[in-house]
Amino acid sequence: METVVTRFAPSPTGYLHLGHVRSALAGWRAAREAGGRFLLRLEDIDHTRCRPHFAAAIVEDLLWLGLDWDGPVRRQSEHFADYRAALARIEAAGLLYPCFCTRREIQAEIARAGGAPQGEQGAPYPGTCRRLRAAERAEKRASAADYALRLDLTAAQALAGPLAWVEDGRGIEADPAASGDVVIARKEVPTSYHLAVTVDDALQGVSLVTRGADLFAATHIHRLLQALLGLPTPQYRHHPLLTDAQGRRLAKRDGAPTIRAMRQAGMIPAEIRKAACDG
Ligand code: GLU
Repeated sequence: METVVTRFAPSPTGYLHLGHVRSALAGWRAAREAGGRFLLRLEDIDHTRCRPHFAAAIVEDLLWLGLDWDGPVRRQSEHFADYRAALARIEAAGLLYPCFCTRREIQAEIARAGGAPQGEQGAPYPGTCRRLRAAERAEKRASAADYALRLDLTAAQALAGPLAWVEDGRGIEADPAASGDVVIARKEVPTSYHLAVTVDDALQGVSLVTRGADLFAATHIHRLLQALLGLPTPQYRHHPLLTDAQGRRLAKRDGAPTIRAMRQAGMIPAEIRKAACDG
C-alpha cells in the first residue's frame, strides 16, 4: 500500500495559535495513524512578512506540543530554483501575462463594474492587463519596477480540460473560475503561494493534504497547476476552521491567543491539543 505522507505548512509571519495546531494535528494524526510520514514545511517566500524568530518559534512550539516530523524542515526560501523551473514551464505554454495594476486600481475597476471588493470570496481580478496590446505590454514590462505574472485562467483551463480531486473519499470537480487570473509569480520573485505549494507537495511526495477549509478555493487552482505541470494529485482533507464562542473564525489579526501565551498562562500540551480539536 502507498505510504501516507502529510504535511503542516505554516508561514512564519507570527506565532502559532490554536487554528494552526488544529491543522498540524490533522496532518500529524493522519500520518501517525497510518504509519506514514509527517513533514514540516515553512512557507517563507514573502521576505517582507516572514521572520526567522517566528520560524524558530514554530519549531519549538510544535516540539513542545509533542508533534514531531520526519526528515528535515523544508524552507521555501531555499528552493526558488524549483519554482523558477515550474514557472518557466507555465510561461512556455503561453499561459502567463504581466499585470501592472496596483491593488487600488484593481478595486476601482471592480467597483466600476459593480462587483464586490476583491478578497476571500470577493470578485476576482477583472483581467485588465490580459487585454493589453503586445507592444504596450512589452513597453510596460521593460520599464515597470514591479509587476505580477498572472495565470490566464480561461486558456489554462482549455488546455487542461476537466479536472477533479478526491476530498475525504469523495470526488470534487475542480472549478477555479471563482479565483480568476491568480498571481503565479512577480517580477523579482519566481513564485506565489499557489505555485510554491503545488510544486512542493509534489516534490515532497505528499499524498494527503490536510488544511483548513479557508484554503478549499485554493485547491481548485492547485489542481489546475498540477495538470499544467504534469504533477501528481494528492488527496485532500479540508477541516472546519476553529471559531470562538460567537462563532467567529479565530484569526491572528483579531488577537487569537498564541500557543506561547497559553503556555505561559500554565496550560499543558494535552490541554492545548484538546482545545484545538474541540473549538
Ligand atoms: N502557508 C499556508 C498558511 O499558513 C498554508 C498552506 C497549506 O497548507 O497549503 O496559511
